[in-house]
Amino acid sequence: MDNKQYKEALNLFDKQSKSPRDVIIYMGIKACIHLKEYQRIIDIEQKLSPATLNNPYIQTILIQFYMQNHDIKNAYRLFSIINNKSNHMYATMFKGLISNKMPENVLDLYEKMNIKANPATLTTLFSACSKVANDRAKNIGKESLHKMPNDYYNNNILLTSAINMLMKFNDIQSAEKLFKMIQNKDIITYGSMMKGYTENKEYDKVLDLFEQMPLKPDHIIGVLVFNASAQLLHDRAKQIGRQLLYQIPKHFHSDTVVLTSVIDMLMKFNDVTTAEHYFKMIKKKDVVAYSVLMNGYNINNEPLKCLQLLDEIKQHNLIPDEVVWIILIGACAQLSMLSKCQLILDQIPSPLFNKKYVQNSLIHMWGKAGSVENAQKIFQLVDNPDAITYSAMINSYGLNRMGLEAIELYRNMPYHLRDEVTYICVLNACSHSALLDDAYSIFNEIPQKNEQIITTMIDCLSRLYLFDEAQKLIEEYEKSNPPSSAMYMTILSGARNSRQHILSKQIYDRMKILFPNQKDSLISGSILLSNIYSSLGDHQEAENIRLNRIEQLGTKVKSGTSWTEVNGDVVEFKANDHSHPQYKQIYAQSKHISDTLIKYGYKYDPSWISCPLSKDETIESVLSSHSERLAIAYHFIQQKEPSFIQITNNLHMCGDCHRTTKLIAKIWQCEIIVRDTNCIHHFSSDGTCSCQDHF
Ligand SMILES: [Zn+2]
Ligand SMILES: [Zn+2]
Repeated sequence: MDNKQYKEALNLFDKQSKSPRDVIIYMGIKACIHLKEYQRIIDIEQKLSPATLNNPYIQTILIQFYMQNHDIKNAYRLFSIINNKSNHMYATMFKGLISNKMPENVLDLYEKMNIKANPATLTTLFSACSKVANDRAKNIGKESLHKMPNDYYNNNILLTSAINMLMKFNDIQSAEKLFKMIQNKDIITYGSMMKGYTENKEYDKVLDLFEQMPLKPDHIIGVLVFNASAQLLHDRAKQIGRQLLYQIPKHFHSDTVVLTSVIDMLMKFNDVTTAEHYFKMIKKKDVVAYSVLMNGYNINNEPLKCLQLLDEIKQHNLIPDEVVWIILIGACAQLSMLSKCQLILDQIPSPLFNKKYVQNSLIHMWGKAGSVENAQKIFQLVDNPDAITYSAMINSYGLNRMGLEAIELYRNMPYHLRDEVTYICVLNACSHSALLDDAYSIFNEIPQKNEQIITTMIDCLSRLYLFDEAQKLIEEYEKSNPPSSAMYMTILSGARNSRQHILSKQIYDRMKILFPNQKDSLISGSILLSNIYSSLGDHQEAENIRLNRIEQLGTKVKSGTSWTEVNGDVVEFKANDHSHPQYKQIYAQSKHISDTLIKYGYKYDPSWISCPLSKDETIESVLSSHSERLAIAYHFIQQKEPSFIQITNNLHMCGDCHRTTKLIAKIWQCEIIVRDTNCIHHFSSDGTCSCQDHF
């Protein structure tokens, strides 16, 4: 029946004599439900004869009506007066309770049920159990599954519902057993299994099952596989994800949900260009698609592109949701440019601005951008600060070398809110401000110390050259844990700063034995080691280590990016970047700065070079085209004698850039602030850096 017919049916119903037949009443109620004429149904029910009210069809449709109308009380009233309750009635009650978000009540009713549940009732019961998922639900669900008669095992809908339930109970094994028993597996069954694996974070199993599946994937499977590949990021996952991407039928390309998951996957594969290509294919771009693209830019170290999309969202008359704002704040934190931070902050709608998680990420943003004052202002606005609020504020103090303030806040925060992150933040703050006694007393108070907490303490000790104590902590840790390369790297970094070449060599040799497969750590370790020899004047040994590294470990290193703000615009430079329209001028300026530095006695330190030199490169040309150096040169083009330069770098500043920046600050009497992943370097015009060369 269509709408018009429902109206006609209701007219007919009204014209009926005083006691219409039950089937007419049934049709009348159905028409009322469809036309949302709720009051009329209540009137009809009141006029029904006891015999009609006893008709199971009438009873069931009335229950359905009350449930749809969220009138649980009347549904229960009607259900309780029914003498012979059928499976259909139970299933109707169950469905109604689930859609009214009362799945616990399904369990109550089921326990009182005195007839054998049929497959439809069990399907609904399993669905309720998976929603409740507490011990009681687990018992009821599993017991009913166990007692199921053999012929029920032919029912795909029932078994799929049971698989969903078992997966929600994190009982993967039983779900797999059941899955194997299903003879005619369809695409929905496969989809349920993969969804269950995803919920249990068993992404490898999603891919295994996908490879075994003899059916063509549908949209749902596509999204699940792309998602699993994006989570795993290993070679096999990348291969499967890409292969599916090139095989999916063309009509998938018009599905926004599929394309959004493709973009997310490609961004996590660091394939920005292809991700952008798929984004362009989305005809009706929604806020979710934008947020995935923007998040992808943040992951791939392109916060400027992320920020630029805000205008595009607004041009398309879309309203950015809270996810988008959090991503934008994240982009600002990456960029750490005060003006951009303020620009985004001013646009956040006020109801959102008052939400705690937004305020928490704003504290983090200001802390990273070096504005403790603004971070404090937000902190004071937070109603009932939580663990994240405190950690964000403590970390802001730490990043800006305000160790004492960090400790004070840590001491004043409610004890029960302290967690691993707080411990790491406060220890890090102690470490950067060289507050050893405080670090020790906090460290000793921590009930359970994990790898990261201990590494932070080792960092604190190594910065103060207390290597014996640092090594004791490692020994203690390794008694009950596998060795951690992060701990060794931390000591090595301290040993480099104190130019202890014997200790450094010992540690690096040990790393080669302990972590033969951790190439990234070994590369960083080897760079530190060659730095030490170089700083001791043993350039031959430094060069040997460097060449060895290139030969044994390859040359894959992350390229650095720097951002700087000139006349209100944020400009981005990558290492060896030739993309800027003024690049020739910039390189000439960088060379000019280098020549001046050399006149002041500066020598390039080749130990910081991590790749083999190509034919047209020299040590000088490579080091002076590091992204920070290009950013500084750009300032000198814009202004003859800049007095203030702010730069954000996505990696650790290399020692050569650190040394040249100190000199530049001194020679040109310029204040330079460089924020790298580790800390904020404040270079003063007296030629020193606030990190006291611990970086
Ligand atoms: Zn550098
Ligand atoms: Zn520094």
